[in-house]
Amino acid sequence: MAAPLSADQQMKALRAEGVKVSERSGWRTHNRNHKGAWGPVHGVMIHHTVSSGDDSSVELCYNGHSALPGPLCHGVGRNDGTIALVSSARANHAGLGDGDVLRAVINETALPAANEANTDGNRHFYGLEIVNLGDNKDTYTKGQYRSAVLWAAALCRAHGWSEKSVIGHKEWQPGKIDPRGPIEGGGSFSMTQFRADVRAQLAGKPGPSPAPVPTSPPKEDTAVPLSTDDVKKIWTTDGILPSPSTAAKGNTHWTADSYIRDIHARLRAVQGTLDATNATIRTMAEALAARDQAVDVDALIARIETAIKGVTVRLETE
Ligand SMILES: [Zn+2]
Repeated sequence: MAAPLSADQQMKALRAEGVKVSERSGWRTHNRNHKGAWGPVHGVMIHHTVSSGDDSSVELCYNGHSALPGPLCHGVGRNDGTIALVSSARANHAGLGDGDVLRAVINETALPAANEANTDGNRHFYGLEIVNLGDNKDTYTKGQYRSAVLWAAALCRAHGWSEKSVIGHKEWQPGKIDPRGPIEGGGSFSMTQFRADVRAQLAGKPGPSPAPVPTSPPKEDTAVPLSTDDVKKIWTTDGILPSPSTAAKGNTHWTADSYIRDIHARLRAVQGTLDATNATIRTMAEALAARDQAVDVDALIARIETAIKGVTVRLETE
């Protein structure tokens, strides 16, 4: 997992971690790759800028200065809590440091004191410059500190590193003092505390407000089959369905079974009435034909049946 993340991968990792990101135009292709190797990467490094002013510091880190050409880091930790991206590859931030420290970072073991400057750090570390004068008086804002923790955690998570892959510049190169200074709300910048904060961030899910995780999977809809007795009870339980008939004196509620029996009885009565009516019509037609030979019985019945079809028969339930 030591191949450097692409610009898109860095952006994706930072956003997933909840970092508020701003992009200095050109950051994706602005780097020092023409001056040396970029990768394999092994960790992230924290600095202070020795400057003030968010916008001017972002420009300084992008362009560099007469003694040191930019980019001077990958992200700039602004006072407003956003991280401004100024490069996605090799940047001039780490310089020559201690190879023993690099080995400890790779192995994620305890850091030895930095007492050598024999190893190219720009090749192996992502760098964050936090906007601060570094005079031990200028205060890091809470948002600034928090965004630095998230920035470090995002890259560690993306690479599968622990907080032990996070170091301060002062832990890399002899003579360096960054980062240092008071933090808004109390305390001063400590890499030990910073790593503990990254560790805590890595222990949780990424993002500023992760979605709540259900403590148990949602219950399946358990369909309990009904027994024959259950079905009988449903159909024959009295007292639930109001009776449709005022004729059912004293019996104001019926079972479903009673409903079906009542409907069936009424349909049989209707069918009987229809049969009788049809027989009556035929008898009348035949009586008519006996008196008048000109009457065609079948034709007369057909006419009467057609007339009946045009009548809406309203079946009343009471
Ligand atoms: Zn530095």
